[in-house]
Amino acid sequence: MAEGDSILRLAQRMRARLEGAEVSVRTPGPRRPDGLAATELNGRTLDRVESRGKHLLFHFDGGLALHSHLGMKGSWQLYANGERWRRPAHQAWIVLVGNGVEAVNFGGSKLRIVPEAQLGRDPRLARLGPDLLADDFDPDVPAARIRSAGPDLRLGDALLGQRLVAGIGNIFRSEGCFAAGIDPRTPVGAVSDEELVAVLDATRALMLDSVETGRQPKQVYRRAGMPCQTCGTKILSQAQGETARTTYWCPSCQPPARD
Ligand SMILES: [Zn+2]
Repeated sequence: MAEGDSILRLAQRMRARLEGAEVSVRTPGPRRPDGLAATELNGRTLDRVESRGKHLLFHFDGGLALHSHLGMKGSWQLYANGERWRRPAHQAWIVLVGNGVEAVNFGGSKLRIVPEAQLGRDPRLARLGPDLLADDFDPDVPAARIRSAGPDLRLGDALLGQRLVAGIGNIFRSEGCFAAGIDPRTPVGAVSDEELVAVLDATRALMLDSVETGRQPKQVYRRAGMPCQTCGTKILSQAQGETARTTYWCPSCQPPARD
């Protein structure tokens, strides 16, 4: 699944190649975006591409927006005009063409075209916590939101939930907790304010590094049963939270919280 780092990278590439372009739109597959007809975007200028957590927002002149969420399996791919796509055209949900570039969306959990004024009414956008990768990110804001969710919430679930802080997926909640030396199963009531800020800062630093380099950390994620690269202890894993997605941690580098 694309996490906030991948979405920010995508937004940066789209900005560089498509921002300011007058676009034409195609929908080669059977699936249509929700909301307004895709043809409404034809001939409009793409003013701005924005990432917000795991959501990608395209803002067009005349006050229209295209809202995309890739879910577990979706992707956006950029091609030069006429270049051969890596997936069949009938699988494409929408294609934005401009500046000699084709931006193609394959799959995903959401694609809709709405007036800007309606954008914020989408429940998933409206409930989104502060974007971990925003330029003006202040860890005290999500730290306070995490506190307000109650002491029993597990740290790993708080990081993944999107409502308290947005952008973190399964890789970075495990890697961020490892970097901060905190067991992801710890109830937030047993985590100090300093530790909470430290885990948010550590996760943000890892994700921004991934935006820069395209490389994601691999200290614990999907390394269950393998030795920790820091201390040699066997990495553990456990399904965690409502969605039961697997969390990974090192029991020595991330000791369990004391009662
Ligand atoms: Zn270790």
